[in-house]
Amino acid sequence: MSVQGAIPVLTYHAMNVNGNDPESNDHVALASDLESLLAHHWEIVPLIDAVRSLFEGAIPMPPRAVAISFDDGSWFDWYDLDHPVHGRQRGMAGILRDFRERHRVRVHATSFVIVSPDARAELDRTCMLGCGWWGHEWWSEATREGLVAIESHSFDHNHHTLTRTAFGEAPTGRFDGVVTETLAEAEIVAASRWLDAAVPGRRTRLLAYPYGQSSRFLREDFLPRRRADHGLLAAFGTEPRAMTALDDRWNLPRLVCGADWRSSDELMRRIEAG
Ligand SMILES: [Zn+2]
Repeated sequence: MSVQGAIPVLTYHAMNVNGNDPESNDHVALASDLESLLAHHWEIVPLIDAVRSLFEGAIPMPPRAVAISFDDGSWFDWYDLDHPVHGRQRGMAGILRDFRERHRVRVHATSFVIVSPDARAELDRTCMLGCGWWGHEWWSEATREGLVAIESHSFDHNHHTLTRTAFGEAPTGRFDGVVTETLAEAEIVAASRWLDAAVPGRRTRLLAYPYGQSSRFLREDFLPRRRADHGLLAAFGTEPRAMTALDDRWNLPRLVCGADWRSSDELMRRIEAG
């Protein structure tokens, strides 16, 4: 039995293409998990609706609601791409559409994107394939279609392969070092503003912490106090369990494909347990 009112949030990294089975490829995993979710009577809801239902109570949820999210915002979320090693990959959006057409059910995902175009251009070379597959041209198209929502994964992820990030001299490769007003503004407020300007027809409402990491300063001080500036309703870490109305809205849990489940059967066992 799932816990009453608890909503699991599933996370996929579409750049995880290291083979063509569910364990090595998040596209294959998503396609398989969608079928299992349906077979076990889980209904996919937009993440923002799930958050609003828990913290504002305005939106009714089905008894077995689950939300889907993608991280980092590369082309693999949207386009079908020819991977140089592992062949043609159906984009995550295409997998959602295929599933919707096959079963005539509602489906939705939220893509947490790395905002800075400079950071994405550099990451495309340092930790993807260097094919120019990390542009943001699809974010507006996705917003218009309404299948994949665009939300914030911070300005530059403080990624360890970047030569320069908003962190300056502080260590890269982690996000719990956001402990000053200036850094929080650069990584979070600037990200919301950039997205709101560049991807109109929506407002930035959700944040996924890079590496799932956050500081007490962010959770207990900056995010609650500066809501008018960042516009966010909630932020996600990666504690692997379903979220409930009792959780801290500035550190909501998510389950991560590959880390928290390696097969659709394992996913079902995890979310049935709450
Ligand atoms: Zn990330």
